[in-house]
Order: sequence, then structure tokens, then C-alpha cells
Amino acid sequence: MDVHSKEKEMLGLLESLVNIDSGSYYKVGVDQIGKILLPYFTELGFDVQRVKQKEVGDHLILRHSEKQKSYILIVAHMDTVFEEGTAKARPFSIKDGRAYGPGVIDMKASLVSVIYALRYLKDIGSDAYKGVQVILNSDEETGSLTSRPIIEKEAIGKSYALIMEPARRDGSVVTERRGSGRFTIEVHGKAAHSGIEPEKGRSAIEELAHKIVKLHELNDHEQGISVNVGIIEGGDAVNTVSAMAVGHIDVRVATLQQAEEMEHKIEKVCASSDVSGTEIELTGDMRRPPMLKNKKIEELFQIVRNVAAELGIDLKDTKTGGGSDASFTSAMGIPTIDGLGPIGGHAHSEKEYLVISSLTERTLLLAKVIERLMSEKNN
Ligand SMILES: [Zn+2]
Repeated sequence: MDVHSKEKEMLGLLESLVNIDSGSYYKVGVDQIGKILLPYFTELGFDVQRVKQKEVGDHLILRHSEKQKSYILIVAHMDTVFEEGTAKARPFSIKDGRAYGPGVIDMKASLVSVIYALRYLKDIGSDAYKGVQVILNSDEETGSLTSRPIIEKEAIGKSYALIMEPARRDGSVVTERRGSGRFTIEVHGKAAHSGIEPEKGRSAIEELAHKIVKLHELNDHEQGISVNVGIIEGGDAVNTVSAMAVGHIDVRVATLQQAEEMEHKIEKVCASSDVSGTEIELTGDMRRPPMLKNKKIEELFQIVRNVAAELGIDLKDTKTGGGSDASFTSAMGIPTIDGLGPIGGHAHSEKEYLVISSLTERTLLLAKVIERLMSEKNN
């Protein structure tokens, strides 16, 4: 089979996936994506293990029925950041060599790519695809809270992990990611009429304001640390001293040590109140460890780069601030490459796009990488 001749077919499958809403909180839609994908895997001889979920879509684990052990773990997510109704509002479309629609590059094109890479290997008579185990998870965009333990369990003993987030706009794959955390501060004060008896109140908003300033002082962009109180809530009326205020914090770090330090620093900031009589409740943690470009990742990248060169692609790698499931496998010491999906950009926005020519190109690259990695293992 010539992958390039399959472009139309692949775009057809992509269109059907994009036109189904599958936001992380829309279980029905995510499960529908799984339902469309599964027959492609069973046709290739994969057994399906469904990890049922109540709140989010079911996670799917696929192993080849002829293999006791798999060597390569592929992780791809079925959820998007878009709410129900988005697919209807702006369905899949094509213009000037690009495809558009919710989740088209993050990461529905990658789902298509995984299927066709495995099919390609089967068609050319390579058994390499049988050494692959695939996890299709359903809550990546909200931090992989329920799929993380599954990914970490299945990653044990694997020789490599390939994460299917999209390639960067310039085609680079990802070998380094910042770690990330989410925290929430809930401040409890005491309500009082601000005109009649303000002295009886304890302002939760005033307290939160102190905390916001202190938290933002923890920023150190040169060291790769960022702390952002991105959402605040609170107050009942303009003439009432606020009894309640909430701040939502996003934290990014470059190293494991920074992750620990930031957790401590945030706890310290919230340990005492600046406005006496208010109380602070801090919840959350560092969700994803950073993905560090260590020697194992460097070596795996060189293999991928060599395979790419044989296909005429000058493959580069890069680092990014966003988190992904690559953080989990790389933190376990498993050689991991991310960004192996097709090329595109503007993920999580209306302008999200896929470069159509990269769909078959990166599918062939993925197939050849799987073939090479399995042959390395056999040598
Ligand atoms: Zn993604």
C-alpha cells in the first residue's frame, strides 16, 4: 500500500471524527469516537480492553492478540477542549491545503494517522505493528486525571513511548515539556454591610488580592517558572464586605526540583492570612512532571531523525510549555518522543488547522519509526 494514495480515505475518516463533538466533559461524544475507531484496530487483530468511566469517555487499551508482550506504547487522546455544539457550528472544512474543525489537529488527525500507520505495516508484510500497544484516552485535555494511572501501568516494561500530540507548526517533534500544576485558593471571610458596619467584616477579596500579588512574585520566566492566577471569583454585592473569594492558579516549571519547590512556596504563601480573621483553603498539586530531554530521549530522537531523513524530512525537535501525557512516560525513564502527529497549529482555538499534506507524510514516518524500533529490538 502506498500511504499517499490513501489521503482521501484518511480525510474521510478525519471528517467523521471532527464532526462529532468530543469535549472532555461530553462522555457520549468521546465514546462515539471510540466506537468509530475500534473496528479499525480489531480488523488488524488487536484485542480491546475497555476501562469504563462514569464522568469521562471510556479509555481504550489495544494489544495485538498474537503478542504476549508489546514493546512500543502509543498514546493518543480522543477528547478535545471544545464544548457540545462546536462541531455543528463549524464542521470539518478544507481550504487551501488546510483542514479545519474542532480537534482537527489536537488530535483527531493523529488518531487517523495511528490507524493508517499500523495498516500500512500490515499491508507491506511487516509484523512490527504487532509489537505496538495503543492507549486511546479520553481526559487528556483536563489533565489525564483518570487515565494517568492507566498510562503509567501500561508503560511499565515498554522500550519506547510515542505520544501523538501534533507536530509543531514548523514540523518539529517535541522532546522537552515544562511540568504543570493546578491549584485553587478558597478564601473565607466574614460578610458585613460596607456602609453600616464595615468594621465587622473580613474581606475575602482583600485577602485574595494579597495572595495574588505574592503568587505572581514567584514568577521567574528565565528559569522557566510561571505562576498565573488566571481566574478569580468572589463577592456578593458591591456594598457587602466579601465573605468568599476563589483564585485558580496555573503553574509551569522546567525541572522536577522546581516542581517540588513551587509546591512548597505556594503552600507557604497560603499558610497565613494577611487580613486577620480570614481563612485560606489551598487545594491542587503539580499534575504533570516536566519532560526532560535526557540521554534516552536524545537517542530515540536520533533514531526518529534518521528515519525521517530517509523519507526526505529534515526533522527537528523542540521544547514547549504545554503539558501532555509524554510527561508521565518520560518521568518513568521510558524513552519518549512527543509531537509525532501530523503538522498543524492554533490548537484549542477556532483557527485550529491541519496541513493536509502532512497527514500522509507523518503517517508514513510513524510507520517507519515503528518498523525501525522493532528491528532495533530484534537485533
Ligand atoms: Zn492534545
